Amino acid sequence: MTRYQPTTKDVLQFLRSLKDAGVTEIPRVHVELSEAWRRTSAESAVAKSDVSSSASPNTAGSEGQGIGRASKPRTPGVVAAKQVMEDVQSKPIQDSTALGLAPTQIDGAYPSRSQSENLDRALAILSEEVSQCQACPELSKIRTQTVFGVGDPRARVVFFGEAPGADEDRIGEPFVGKAGQLLDRILSASTFRRDEVYILNTLKCRPPGNRNPNDVEIQNCGRFWQRQLELIQPEYVVCLGAIAVRTLLQTDRSIAKLRGDFHRYRGSKVLVTYHPAYLLRNESAKRLVWEDMKLLLSDMGIEVPKS
Ligand code: SF4
Repeated sequence: MTRYQPTTKDVLQFLRSLKDAGVTEIPRVHVELSEAWRRTSAESAVAKSDVSSSASPNTAGSEGQGIGRASKPRTPGVVAAKQVMEDVQSKPIQDSTALGLAPTQIDGAYPSRSQSENLDRALAILSEEVSQCQACPELSKIRTQTVFGVGDPRARVVFFGEAPGADEDRIGEPFVGKAGQLLDRILSASTFRRDEVYILNTLKCRPPGNRNPNDVEIQNCGRFWQRQLELIQPEYVVCLGAIAVRTLLQTDRSIAKLRGDFHRYRGSKVLVTYHPAYLLRNESAKRLVWEDMKLLLSDMGIEVPKS
């Protein structure tokens, strides 16, 4: 299926419609323009409300509210619509697909904050794109729903897993089955609440029979998690299990060899540890995961609990 690519004329028309609706400022997030173009005029009114609130100093303050020790503040800067119109005339608009990075680009820095000012909205648009994705025919045909990610997008630490299972497919949230309950206990023991971190998977759709994702599926879905991390820009990524490790770090080295030290994905420090599902089958590995979590906490400057 050919993706719709708005022309500069389309974008200008869209911006004029926003202007006619009374919008004077919009977030400087180019990805939103091509996606928002598809919205109806009624939704434009909602966009106006969103834009207005993001421009408000009060909203900037509320974005910081409830951000705990594991979260970091964001500044939702805005630019005048006139400036954006000049921008779109001087360079092509990119959609989130075009912004997706090749999996091998693990060393480049994250883009500047100006590309991801309206974080919640950019993630919502990306989530909507994921929900429409049919790149993997087998998975998109049998899924109940896509499983995008959950938690605080301003979190310092992101937990990166493998793929949804049956419970996740049913509920639409990562790590909600038995392995998810164990992850919650690991988080709790590490003094994190689930809503203080962000949790996502390599794949957004459940592989049938809980089989491992294949290489094509991992490749297909790469642009989505890459874009999520690009938006969230976490200080730390904790890779849970071999598939997450292989996908993020582009390595076939074992978890046993990689754990116990920090690695790098773009601007994030990466810690490698075992998947909670593995711990359910291998009780003795829990001690190793706790060692990894203590290393994470120490590096984050968080006091390590006694037990
Ligand atoms: S797994 Fe990812 S790439 Fe494949 S259909 Fe689902 S959302 Fe699309």
